[in-house]
Amino acid sequence: MKNIIFIAPPAAGKGTQSDLLVKKYNYVHISTGDLLRSEVASGSKLGLELTDIMKSGSLVSDEIVTELLKKRLDQDDARKGFILDGYPRNVNQAKVLDELASSLGITLDVAIYLDMDEELAMHRALGRMTCPKCGRGYNRYESAMKPIKDDICDDCGVPLDHRNDDNEETFKIRFNTYLESTKPLLKYYEDKGILKTIDNSGTPKDTFENIESVI
Ligand code: AMP
Repeated sequence: MKNIIFIAPPAAGKGTQSDLLVKKYNYVHISTGDLLRSEVASGSKLGLELTDIMKSGSLVSDEIVTELLKKRLDQDDARKGFILDGYPRNVNQAKVLDELASSLGITLDVAIYLDMDEELAMHRALGRMTCPKCGRGYNRYESAMKPIKDDICDDCGVPLDHRNDDNEETFKIRFNTYLESTKPLLKYYEDKGILKTIDNSGTPKDTFENIESVI
């Protein structure tokens, strides 16, 4: 199974596509955003430090994220095919990841770029919601991802959460950070010959089919 790196603007649906890949192909989904949110939820000293940075839409320091990622990649299940969602976020992290992968004997097989424009990404960010119980993602503005009952999880019946960094102001900061820091990764992976660009302007199902054609 090919190990996958996702590169995409905020709210592109990396989590949704990852869930589909996990369900169909048994991939292991490694999201640095989720690892950081768990740290915040644990109430640890580090978690408290992270809260304001993440709420503001800025990036957490490379050292902190890399340390969390290293621990996660070192677990046995990461040997059977993983999706990296949210890492690397800049060229420095990409270089660190190359070193980490070679020290762990892991290959980075394909970097998938989910291509979409800013307006659509913002629309998705403002509408997205997650079930706090099962983690299923929804979007109140997209018919293909709307819950049956407004703001309630179809599977668990509990009210859905809206991320506190999914508002217009924070989205703009996150999108600019993406343009400045993350988009240069396209050239980095193109030069390595592993970049695949996927049209991400359709439904999640369309995107998933596009992804399947490159993995
Ligand atoms: P995400 O769930 O990927 O949108 O990430 C949510 C937030 O976590 C980001 O806005 C950053 O503050 C932080 N974050 C996640 N991954 C990274 C990373 N690789 N480097 C730095 N900060 C990150």
